[in-house]
Amino acid sequence: MNGVNDIRETFLGFFEKNGHARRPSAPLVPQNDPTLLFVNAGMVPFKNIFTGAEKPFAPRATTSQKCVRAGGKHNDLDNVGYTARHHTFFEMLGNFSFGDYFKDDAVALAWELVTKEYGLDAKRLLVTVYAEDEEAPAIWKKVAGLDDSRIIRIATSDNFWSMGDTGPCGPCSEIFFDHGDKVAGGPPGSPDEDGDRFIEIWNLVFMQFEQHEGGKRTNLPKPSIDTGMGLERVAAVLQGVHNNYDIDLFRALIAAEEEVYGQKASGDKTASFRVIADHLRTSAFLVADGILPSNEGRGYVLRRIMRRAMRHGHMLGAREPQMHRLVPALVAEMGKAYPELGRAQVAIEAAIEQEEARFQRTLGNGLSLLDKAASELSPGEALPGDVAFRLSDTFGFPLDLTQDILRGRGIEVDVDGFETALDAQRETSRAGGFSSGDQATEEIWFSVRDEKGPTKFTGYSSTAGEGRL
Ligand code: ATP
Ligand code: MG
Ligand code: MG
Ligand code: MG
Repeated sequence: MNGVNDIRETFLGFFEKNGHARRPSAPLVPQNDPTLLFVNAGMVPFKNIFTGAEKPFAPRATTSQKCVRAGGKHNDLDNVGYTARHHTFFEMLGNFSFGDYFKDDAVALAWELVTKEYGLDAKRLLVTVYAEDEEAPAIWKKVAGLDDSRIIRIATSDNFWSMGDTGPCGPCSEIFFDHGDKVAGGPPGSPDEDGDRFIEIWNLVFMQFEQHEGGKRTNLPKPSIDTGMGLERVAAVLQGVHNNYDIDLFRALIAAEEEVYGQKASGDKTASFRVIADHLRTSAFLVADGILPSNEGRGYVLRRIMRRAMRHGHMLGAREPQMHRLVPALVAEMGKAYPELGRAQVAIEAAIEQEEARFQRTLGNGLSLLDKAASELSPGEALPGDVAFRLSDTFGFPLDLTQDILRGRGIEVDVDGFETALDAQRETSRAGGFSSGDQATEEIWFSVRDEKGPTKFTGYSSTAGEGRL
């Protein structure tokens, strides 16, 4: 009974048993923050409770929150297919205390879930704490009996969370699982920490301070707890596999791809199968929450994700729309936990098929042009910006798709040159010419978002809160 659906249920059931109100996932489009692209952590829907702007509906809550990290500064898109642990869409399991319990109980509950309910071997777990937080290591020692070598003190902002320039903030403590020395990578805080041997499964945030304008920091009268555990990561651990893409859910999606694309996921094709499975989930859940591919804002992020997946489909030989045929397998795997998927199935299939049909018209020719241009480069030379621009303007290749294709060959794109070509075209279109506007709108979206980000209640999208909970 270690499938993702059971693992999710064990988490929510455990916290429910411990007095937490179970809430369904909020939609991926933030309901309380127009400057944030997508909900990217379990606490986002509760921001106004943590800041005190809204009254809590209960003292404690638990959720499995749909998250997308594929745009703006909080972006795992380029990790997908490269690391064992990143998706663009994933589920974040969380427990929240709104001024109720604090550090001791948060650590005790986490340790009980991980070692008793999930039955993980304590010897393979280690934790990080914020270097200035003297309480956390003492609690970990007392509750979990961890010795000093397994409590790693981190002095960087990686272990200090804040919602924005002002507002609630505090140290965090992350739980890591050691997948063993067969995998490359060092423990957190070491020079090779980015390897995938030690994988972060759970982040506990101890909101205990209030950051004021002008740098002053005071203690919150009622400190809070916010945690986030990656469902797919803990599933990998529980299913005895290292890579998230080898868990039951992804095996089922990849099996469906093998049918549809008529070949096995093996060797250097494996990455394409994984990227398609990931992007299928993100695309389907975004459409279910009302986003459609377009040339601006959220819709443009969706379009870029779909087109990246379609390029991988093309690498697997697809010359006609195929990806939409994977939707039933996804609904079969996740439709029970997320009924909106089943409700939107027809719309999801139609949106994907339409985008595939549209991109199919130019994808092959664009790839030929790109291959030819790339083959003419001397070693170390970047792809000229005007080629990248033509690919974008005429063939519908978003810049990041071109970059992604060339990344595998170690070739960069002259982004300045691309922007120069784009500016020139903007000038022309201002003078009455035609512009598709993809990249331009995208840039405006992000620059507005980045400017407006670090304000009082919307600061979750600022740098300070990015990359962590
Ligand atoms: P990492 O350092 O591995 O990128 P993170 O510190 O950015 O993770 P948090 O922001 O702390 O992650 O999110 C809480 C939890 O959500 C993480 O401990 C992890 O289990 C999970 N998680 C974060 N990003 C992803 C992702 N892109 N795909 C799958 N799970 C994720
Ligand atoms: Mg991250
Ligand atoms: Mg973290
Ligand atoms: Mg981290």
